[in-house]
Amino acid sequence: KLEEDANGVDSASSRISFQNESKWDDHSSYGAKKTLQAWCRLSNGKWALGKVLSTTGSESVLSTSEGKVLKVSTESLLPANPEILNGVDDLMQLSYLHEPSVLYNLQYRYDQDIIYTKAGPVLVAINPFKKVRLYGNDFIEGYKRQKMDKPHVYAIADAAIREMKRDEVNQSIIISGESGAGKTETAKIAMQYLASLGGGSGIEYEILQTNPILEAFGNAKTARNNNSSRFGKLIEIHFGATGRISGAAIQTFLLEKSRVVQCADGERSYHILYQLCAGAPKSLREKLNLRKAEFYKYLNQSSCRSIVGVDDSEMFFAVMEAMNVVHISKEDQDTVFAMLAAVLWLGNISLKVIDNENHITVVSDEGAHTVAKLLGCTFDSLNMALSTRKMTVRNEKIVQKLTLEQAMDTRDALAKSIYASLFEWIVEQINMSLGSGKRRTGRSISILDIYGFESFTRNSFEQFCINYANERLQQHFNRHLFKLEQEEYIEDGIDWAKVDFEDNQDCLNLFEKKPLGLLSLLDEESTFPNATDLTLATKLKQHLDSNPCFKGERGKAFTVSHYAGEVMYNTAGFLEKNRDLLHVDLIQLLASCTCNLPQIFAAKMLVQSDDYPSGPARLSGADSQKLSVATKFKGQLFQLMQRLESTTPHFIRCIKPNSLQQPGIYEQELVLSQLKCCGVLEVVRISRSGYPTRMTHQKFARRYGFLLLESVASQDPLSVSVAILLQFNILPDMYQVGYTKLFFRTGQIGLLEDTRNRT
Ligand code: ATP
Ligand code: MG
Repeated sequence: KLEEDANGVDSASSRISFQNESKWDDHSSYGAKKTLQAWCRLSNGKWALGKVLSTTGSESVLSTSEGKVLKVSTESLLPANPEILNGVDDLMQLSYLHEPSVLYNLQYRYDQDIIYTKAGPVLVAINPFKKVRLYGNDFIEGYKRQKMDKPHVYAIADAAIREMKRDEVNQSIIISGESGAGKTETAKIAMQYLASLGGGSGIEYEILQTNPILEAFGNAKTARNNNSSRFGKLIEIHFGATGRISGAAIQTFLLEKSRVVQCADGERSYHILYQLCAGAPKSLREKLNLRKAEFYKYLNQSSCRSIVGVDDSEMFFAVMEAMNVVHISKEDQDTVFAMLAAVLWLGNISLKVIDNENHITVVSDEGAHTVAKLLGCTFDSLNMALSTRKMTVRNEKIVQKLTLEQAMDTRDALAKSIYASLFEWIVEQINMSLGSGKRRTGRSISILDIYGFESFTRNSFEQFCINYANERLQQHFNRHLFKLEQEEYIEDGIDWAKVDFEDNQDCLNLFEKKPLGLLSLLDEESTFPNATDLTLATKLKQHLDSNPCFKGERGKAFTVSHYAGEVMYNTAGFLEKNRDLLHVDLIQLLASCTCNLPQIFAAKMLVQSDDYPSGPARLSGADSQKLSVATKFKGQLFQLMQRLESTTPHFIRCIKPNSLQQPGIYEQELVLSQLKCCGVLEVVRISRSGYPTRMTHQKFARRYGFLLLESVASQDPLSVSVAILLQFNILPDMYQVGYTKLFFRTGQIGLLEDTRNRT
């Protein structure tokens, strides 16, 4: 077929030289015959496939598949792949690897509901936004028995299991992508596969049942995703000596607390709050004095209270059922629901201004009394905690009255802190049930589902932390795929033209350097009582403006050059969110409550011995008492990286094909920007230009030596290996002999394996 096409080439078009060809295509198997078909970028930014009709000098005439005839600059044309390569499983198989060919290949597959594609070692998953028939027991069995080999999350999970057993090394599956790209669904699909290995006593079912709980408490409807995870999650699944699941442990990162008390219009707060209002049985409703969701201020500030296709009341029962499965007792569940109701009612507390200095008192109405009842405190102590603050000024203990704004902030701080503690407590309970406390002997596979890079029109402290985390993960990805690869070549004495890859160490330094890095400066400013968002911005500008990754902006803003692009952050709220303080008055209030709340706060409860401590205290573990949110997050991240570095990683990049959360729509620009952000384009290029298959001399000689037709004089592995290569006529530019290993270009081992399997 190719021959025919090639013979039909108009002589003019064979003279076309493709500018970008060498950059992308290092060893095209079709290189000799110039294609008739080419890609050209239209004025609307889209790529169009067309036939080159003629070329005169710098201009070419192209007839597009839509029937248009265009005059374009020859330089702007990119060669198209031959049709037999349409929709290949692995982007690495493409002869021409440039943006349009990658985009087209993914779209070609996506249009047929083939949402998974390999990009060398990385699995690309495009969100179908509909049910696709790719999952379930038949598929799981197919991959287990290695009857199926198409790119799939199951294949990745299967590889992780095999490599864990074979190499006795822990594995990780690192899933990334932007909001709505399908990370959480992908993580669940991977868990489903691992769970199919079984474990006995229902542990695998228990592990799966953590999902509805964590999603109820940690996910919310946002503008980008109806079920957006507002926290990062690492689940480590443990395997016993027999290769069956023995337990699991979950670690969460940085829950978005602010959503409890405020959310943008069209978005929702955490699912569980609506589920409780919709689904609580009558007795519970009465006990907690529950109303409909729209009654609560925290929930009715957004006009959105339901999600199309989701029944909150049904979900509530599913969550209760899941809590039973992970052994959260009925009594504890009741406490959890009472605390959720307290959070809701806190938002409905009314504050009344009592003097002309804007001081307030809590109105003695249903709101305040319900909160007091649910928490198990008196109305007076609640009023006191929300309207006054104890302080030490010049060694004198005083009680300061709060203004309306201060009191509202205090009330919201209380609600956020109760919710966040509840979330942590639930994770702890789950971990106890999954047996993370037990001593572990076997191996593990960790699945990381963490927020992708975020860049909005307005970016705050949350985006700052999230993007910092992504910067770290990107480095892990880079290091693993590029550096390690390159090092291995060099170590083995392989002649391999060094490949430049984007290293983001500079940006990480901008964040982490001490004392003049973003995190240190933020922490320093957070300790000054008089610091403001503006002084923070000024300070950053003053110290970091010479850093190429940093740009000071006017007012309360600064820009960071991340690996995935520039992001402008607004410092408004940075200091407060970073300090995350709970005044001692609130801590004392919580400690005095007769509900089971103190137990939920357990070790976190910090009761000061001094009745009038000089400053605000933090409601968190004693050891992390002085840690800011950013520093604590950095610590968690370092720990995470350390953990991941001791594993063999498997990367899945999720791609969102459109911003409408609709099936069947593929927006090229959107996909392309994500492919760039997550390094997929770079990976393909690098993997293909190198020697992705490698084997030690020994292993190669052992594996294929018996295929030799003539015996070799010397029996050393290298001589045997070379004899095999010669016998199978593997061309010299298709492999290289290293000190310890043989390195092969893509697809070279195939013939040997086929022969071996037939023998
Ligand atoms: P966030 O960062 O906001 O948490 P996410 O990457 O975790 O986003 P998901 O919640 O996993 O995104 O996916 C968003 C939605 O896309 C899902 O609720 C589901 O409707 C759909 N979806 C994702 N993956 C699949 C899939 N494999 N099959 C069918 N639908 C999917
Ligand atoms: Mg998610």
